[in-house]
Amino acid sequence: MTSPTPLIAGNWKMNGLASGLSEAQAVAAGIGASKARVAICPPATLVERAAAALKNTKVAVGGQDCRAEVSGAFTGDVAAEMLADAGASLVILGHSERRAGYGETDAVVAAKVGAALRAGLEPIICVGETLDERKAERAIEVVTAQVKGSLPAELAGKAFSVAYEPVWAIGTGLTPTTPEIEEIHIAIRATLVERFGEHGKTAPILYGGSVKPSNAAEILHAAEVGGALVGGASLKAEDFLGIINAL
Ligand code: PGA
Repeated sequence: MTSPTPLIAGNWKMNGLASGLSEAQAVAAGIGASKARVAICPPATLVERAAAALKNTKVAVGGQDCRAEVSGAFTGDVAAEMLADAGASLVILGHSERRAGYGETDAVVAAKVGAALRAGLEPIICVGETLDERKAERAIEVVTAQVKGSLPAELAGKAFSVAYEPVWAIGTGLTPTTPEIEEIHIAIRATLVERFGEHGKTAPILYGGSVKPSNAAEILHAAEVGGALVGGASLKAEDFLGIINAL
């Protein structure tokens, strides 16, 4: 099977001021010969400055969400093209904090993915089950349904990644076991291949949820794990580099 180039993306969430960009620059300075692609997704206010600070480095900049519409009366929202205009090349979409907090359905996420592609952004599309769904042994069913519903046909031939983030593992210090991660990643891969044929083999499937330097090597070397989406541990260069270098 074609092995996708791994992607390690840092999701700063609603953390970070301009002063924190020194951490992003320290990441860029410390990457060395990593075979992973690396991205940092700061809050929207920092995208432009992060892109300037990371210009000509190996670290790309991404947004954390975008609106599906191109422009209009949507107070407080950001369009995909605005992120691209500010220097982003990727965007996280469908994060569980947005699905749960803003009622984003698979259809909404799919529309945002389409908007991202039209703006030239590479989407990182998040999926993941809740603890109740895992306990009810519905994790595979829930996650594969999210993949099917959140990935529009326009992704055919385009660069994208899927991030498997069990909701109960985000920010909790808990992680699934390696076999549990592999089981879901293998199911996601099968869904991508069913949907996109050969091209479905080229998208990295990231794991996210309490990834830290101490568990990164095991997670990143698990079957069908093509990188990580890192929250808390992406805020400090030392931690994020520890994860990048675990690959
Ligand atoms: P965490 O967050 O690494 O802090 O668990 C991951 C995420 O929400 O993307």
